[in-house]
Amino acid sequence: MEAQRIKVTRSSMPSIEEYTDEIRALFSSHMLTNAGVKHQQLEEELTSFLDVDYVSLFVNGHSALEAIFEAMELGRGEVITTPFSFISTANAIARKGLTPVFADIDPFSYTLDPNLIEPLISDKTVAIVPVHVYGNICDVDAIQAVAERNGLKVIYDAAHAFGETWKGRGIGSFGDASMFSFHATKVFNTIEGGAVTTSNRDLYSALNCCRNFGLAGPEDAKYIGGNSKMNEFCAAMGLCNLRHVSREISKRKAVASRYTERLCDLPGVEVRHPQEGVISNYAYYPVLFNPDVFGSTRDEVFDALEKINVGSRKYFYPLITDFECYRDAYSSSETPVAKHVADNILTLPMYADLAVDDIDRICDTIHHLAR
Ligand SMILES: *Cc1c(COP(=O)(O)O)cnc(C)c1O
Repeated sequence: MEAQRIKVTRSSMPSIEEYTDEIRALFSSHMLTNAGVKHQQLEEELTSFLDVDYVSLFVNGHSALEAIFEAMELGRGEVITTPFSFISTANAIARKGLTPVFADIDPFSYTLDPNLIEPLISDKTVAIVPVHVYGNICDVDAIQAVAERNGLKVIYDAAHAFGETWKGRGIGSFGDASMFSFHATKVFNTIEGGAVTTSNRDLYSALNCCRNFGLAGPEDAKYIGGNSKMNEFCAAMGLCNLRHVSREISKRKAVASRYTERLCDLPGVEVRHPQEGVISNYAYYPVLFNPDVFGSTRDEVFDALEKINVGSRKYFYPLITDFECYRDAYSSSETPVAKHVADNILTLPMYADLAVDDIDRICDTIHHLAR
């Protein structure tokens, strides 16, 4: 019998009974959206869970990121960011009329190298958009120092960093604002969804207008806003998933430990260890292959896993600057570390209920490819 396919991720879901109980009240209230009861409750619970001052919910993470640029009214400047991210990060910048400028990454955390930001700052620069990658967090202190020296906003793409803390502080409390994604494939999901966290009350109010056509009241619009509100059914899914997310993260931690135990001594294979001072969410399990030492390339590992019906993901590959829509304007050779990582990284299946036997089968396959 063919074994069931192991996918790279599996969305967290509550039981159908738990979700039904959660949405029952909506069938009597007929309030389906526009910051209803579930929406308000989820914002309150996330404010406390994420350890931040304000949470503004959105229909998805990408729209949340675009709304930050709108609400900050940054105009037409340059934004320094990383090419080693999901294409959403650069697209949000470019779609808001800003110009992405790409700096290289640190070879250990895979996040923006703070030392490479300052040389790229010009009189047009308005903001820095660093990305916490795989659950590794950016050097937030160094980035803040660069931003303060140069009068720049810091907007984090924290799509991978749900629930993480650094030195005991919620990761969404750093910088001027952070975007979280609650997409089905993320550590915490609302089916589709996202949020902005901030400590700035005025920015929070502006975000709440931007997600609702720019309206502050029925006869009052300061911003030319779009529509990116989260509906009540998604908020209800979030309320259910939030009850289980801490247990899910501890199960992810066990998955990561097993992978690390099996892979960390293999020559030419680099696995990541949790950073000091960080409580990690174990969002992804990335492995970097050095083909000269290991004996096989990343693509050969990907293909071998496909043969045993296991899905892995070349993530992030290609580099943002190598996509057709960016490659005429940029060159990935200017960010050699990011290029190297994108060409050699593979994320292995990672979700709370991934069985030890399956982790072992995956690791056996990788061992067989070693020299
Ligand atoms: C998922 C993701 C996004 C986009 O979030 P959506 O909720 O899917 O719109 C942006 N940036 C990164 C790094 C992501 O992983």
